[in-house]
Amino acid sequence: MAKKVIVIGSGVGGLATAVRLSQRGFEVEVFEANEYFGGKATKLEKDGYFWGFGPSLFTMPHLLDELVTLCGKKPEDYYHYTKLDPVCKYFFGNGKQVETHADKEKFAAEAELVFGEPKHNTLNHLTLIEKRFSMTEKLFLHSSLHKAATYLDKDIFASLGFIPKMGLFTTMDKEHESVFETAEMQQLFNRYATYNGSDPYQCPATMNVTAAPEYSDGGYILSGGMPDLSRTLYQLATENGVKFHFDMAVEKIIVENGKATGVWVNGAKQSADIVVSNMDVWFTYKKLMKDQRAPERILQQPRSTSAIIFYWGMDRTFDNADIHNIFFSANYKEEFEVTFGQKTVYHDPTTYLFVSSKHQPQHATAGGENWFIVLNIPNNEGQDWDKLIAEARIHVQQKLSKHLGVDVAQHIVCEQVNDPRSIEAKTSSYMGSLYGNSSNNLMAAFLRHPNFSREIDNLYFCGGSVHPGGGVPVCLLSAKITDSLIKE
Ligand SMILES: Cc1cc2nc3c(=O)[nH]c(=O)nc-3n(C[C@H](O)[C@H](O)[C@H](O)COP(=O)(O)OP(=O)(O)OC[C@H]3O[C@@H](n4cnc5c(N)ncnc54)[C@H](O)[C@@H]3O)c2cc1C
Repeated sequence: MAKKVIVIGSGVGGLATAVRLSQRGFEVEVFEANEYFGGKATKLEKDGYFWGFGPSLFTMPHLLDELVTLCGKKPEDYYHYTKLDPVCKYFFGNGKQVETHADKEKFAAEAELVFGEPKHNTLNHLTLIEKRFSMTEKLFLHSSLHKAATYLDKDIFASLGFIPKMGLFTTMDKEHESVFETAEMQQLFNRYATYNGSDPYQCPATMNVTAAPEYSDGGYILSGGMPDLSRTLYQLATENGVKFHFDMAVEKIIVENGKATGVWVNGAKQSADIVVSNMDVWFTYKKLMKDQRAPERILQQPRSTSAIIFYWGMDRTFDNADIHNIFFSANYKEEFEVTFGQKTVYHDPTTYLFVSSKHQPQHATAGGENWFIVLNIPNNEGQDWDKLIAEARIHVQQKLSKHLGVDVAQHIVCEQVNDPRSIEAKTSSYMGSLYGNSSNNLMAAFLRHPNFSREIDNLYFCGGSVHPGGGVPVCLLSAKITDSLIKE
């Protein structure tokens, strides 16, 4: 008889784990607290406008294709994606604008033309981070860092020789300062710290690899936005016979004789041979495993940043913005200092604008645009969010109006907002952090919770709060690692 697995949560990591385990013949049931699947990668709709709740830029699409083919299906029967060129348009406080491309020569030439950044600096840096990525991908993204067998793998053993070139002993910002002559390029590349909610002034230069996939493989847009990815995973899982229970928050993980044997939901026991938690690991311990010893050192690691997100329906199109845009302020250090340095007051966080209706006009009403605006901000420590949101709204409208040369506020016809409180309430992410723990220290990768429990048999973890970390592609990889740890 097939062994039964219960997955707690249907975020990207939980869905991908359910797909993989059901494909291997396990009987899988998913319990989800919300009435919908996808967690942070769900969708929002209002007044004829459509937005993704959180993630927008799609990178490393081969990881999704791999899952579909693993199930013996064809990716084109589930979704379509398009490679973006430019990948992103950057607007700087001094009025300069640059477009990034997955073509290194083209981007380096553009950076030289616009900023005066010598082309070879850009090319050398992109080559270095690409090399770092390929040398370390298998160890940090595809394997459990917490199993001795990982270090016996010959490729991984060979990659350990590359460690001196990994940038372990300097920060992201310091390396960018030493590589680039221009403040704009330093600022542009420091922004990649926000891809995992970290601080460029603290996180090791090792994290500069975060930019690598975008400049080698590129950035993509799914025709239905990132919710297409969640929908695909849900569809694959249901086609494999996975049973979903929505609006069913798990209350407790049942542990008997050192083994996970099921969960409590709605006051009843649901038995299982294996339990996988996709719930934020902090809340998994604090809410579902109150009577078990928690790995406090891991749980007390600094959390990643959070966000204020404005979802605006616009009544017109804006030709000077692209699909994927970043707006910086005049003082680039200020951008990051207000996000990471100050906990309660901030005025000028990096502003991210994604407009999928430029690619898929049906995401907005006729002639309009669906603006998705993210401000990277500190996580929730009890700040006065209503006041900060009101200030941020005015600030962002002014900033975008200045850059785009039009009064943005006049063209907003509908709005939805999320903030650290609602992100925590809707996805159970502690402090509203987007990516679990930050990567602000050298040991961060090793201080993420493993994909298995060291204390309790048959208990596993997946998703952005555990190894290898947050971000959609990384969550897909966490599912792959979790799957590989679950023996037949
Ligand atoms: C605003 C924003 C922008 C982002 N931008 C990007 C981006 O551009 N690119 C990128 O790659 N990533 C981005 N991310 C990060 C990315 O969305 C996440 O890393 C990823 O979606 C997290 O997936 P997860 O598997 O950790 O699950 P989550 O999305 O955290 O979902 C966990 C699920 O578990 C459920 N759950 C929790 N507790 C229980 C319980 N007790 N019982 C049952 N169910 C429970 C929750 O309801 C939820 O559905 C962004 C995130 C946000 C919010």
